[in-house]
Parts: sequence; C-alpha cells; structure tokens
Amino acid sequence: MSKPMIEVAQLHKSFGVHEILKGIDLTVHQGEIVVIIGPSGSGKSTLLRCLNCLELPSSGTVKVEGTSFSDESGRYNEKRVARLRTEIGMVFQGFNLFPMMTAIQNVMAAQIKIRKKSAEEAKKTAEKYLTKVGLAERMNHYPNQLSGGQKQRVAIARALAMEPNIMLFDEATSALDPELVGEVLKVIRELADEGMTMVLVTHEMRFAEEVGDRIIFMDKGVIVEEGKPSDIFNAPKHQRTKLFINQVL
Ligand code: ADP
Ligand code: MG
Repeated sequence: MSKPMIEVAQLHKSFGVHEILKGIDLTVHQGEIVVIIGPSGSGKSTLLRCLNCLELPSSGTVKVEGTSFSDESGRYNEKRVARLRTEIGMVFQGFNLFPMMTAIQNVMAAQIKIRKKSAEEAKKTAEKYLTKVGLAERMNHYPNQLSGGQKQRVAIARALAMEPNIMLFDEATSALDPELVGEVLKVIRELADEGMTMVLVTHEMRFAEEVGDRIIFMDKGVIVEEGKPSDIFNAPKHQRTKLFINQVL
C-alpha cells in the first residue's frame, strides 16, 4: 500500500480519572478515506483531536507523515506540534467562523497569520478555494448572511487554503438542516475523488458506505471492529457493531 500518513500506536487518553481512549492503533495511508462511526461518547472526537494534537495523548504515539508529535524523550515541542498541525486540516460540527469577517477574510486569516503569506497571495488562494466549494458569488458575505451549508463550505475552504495533506471532518453535517447536508457532502466527496487523505466522523451512514475505503466502529474508547464498508454494514461480526448498525440504518 501507499505511504502511511497517520500512524497511531497504543494511544491512551484520560480526562481526570476517566480513560476515554483505551489503546487505539490506527494507520491511515495516503489517499485513504477512513470513516469512524460509533455511539455518542465513544471517543470519536477525542481521537480526531489527538490526530492533530488539539489533545495530547496520555500515552502512546501519533505520527504524521512519519514524524511523531513528541520528541524522543516523549516531550511535546510547541514548534514541532504547530508545524505538523498545519499539515492537517480540520472541520468541526460548529463552523467557528469569525463573525466580524467576510467569507474571504475568514479564509485569508490563518494564511497570513500562520503561513505568513502576503494579503495579496492569501486572497488569491482564498478565491481559489471558495470557488472550489461553490462560493465564488458569496466571498464578501458575512457569516450571518450565509446558510449553514454555506458557512460549513467556508470552513472547508479555510482548511483547504492551508493546503494540508490530510483532512479531518468531525460531524461536519450534524448541525445542518437536512436540506443543506447534500451540498457539504458533495464537497467532501469531490475531495475524496481527488485523492485527499481523510478521516471522517459522521452519522451519515449511506455517505460513509459510499466514500469510505474503511469503516472503523468505536465503542467505549476502543476500536471494536473495522473493515470494508460492505462488510461492516452488511455483515458486522461483533454484537456491539450489529446493535449499532441496526439502530442507525
Ligand atoms: P464522541 O465524539 O464519540 O461523542 P467524545 O470524544 O466527544 O465522544 O467524548 C468521549 C468522552 O470523553 C465523553 O464522555 C466526554 O464527556 C469526555 N470528554 C471529551 N472531552 C473532554 C474534556 N476536554 N474533558 C473531560 N471530558 C471530556
Ligand atoms: Mg464527537
């Protein structure tokens, strides 16, 4: 298979006395689309947040394109974390746009602040990605002038403008009215077709089945079962997977 983009080994994460992730092993290869499903509270968001170091593991390692977030002695160096984090784009359920900035300003901000681009360069890149997500006509709108689906597409354009090699989506469509889900899934599907490496958490099971190369079912902080979409959805092996699939399909 192609090169590993993310390598997680024996990842444990606790909040206080609660162990939320209990030894996760996961490798995501270049161009692969991994979809994580599982009940609420099973640790899906925590896992995604550990992948780009928004949360630090309690133990275990996370490597991005072969480089560990922590150094040889297990310490986290801020510079190294910041650099690796820019290689991973993340899109959340809530769009987290700056309300006082237009769509294009939202997409420009991190490029200027973190990538140190000139305003002119950042604007060009922002136009490119806003056009890509179908918002060429909405660049100068403020978030409150945009629908939920449009706001989420701005958030995707903002992540893409950093030109990451990996994209993480955490329930990107969960906050949207049903009629707006499709336009966001369409953008994600296009990224998939272009070969972007992606890890998605979603409740859209049909979408998961359609775009996923691999489905991971998580429950109570462990990976219970993983496999091809057709196997997980049609012939789950574990009782917990069966129960979950029956509830959500
Ligand atoms: P999921 O995304 O699968 O619904 P989460 O990863 O969000 O699950 O949460 C798993 C568990 O971890 C939940 O019980 C949640 O309350 C807990 N948790 C998540 N983040 C924190 C935090 N920052 N502090 C304390 N507990 C947390
Ligand atoms: Mg979650």
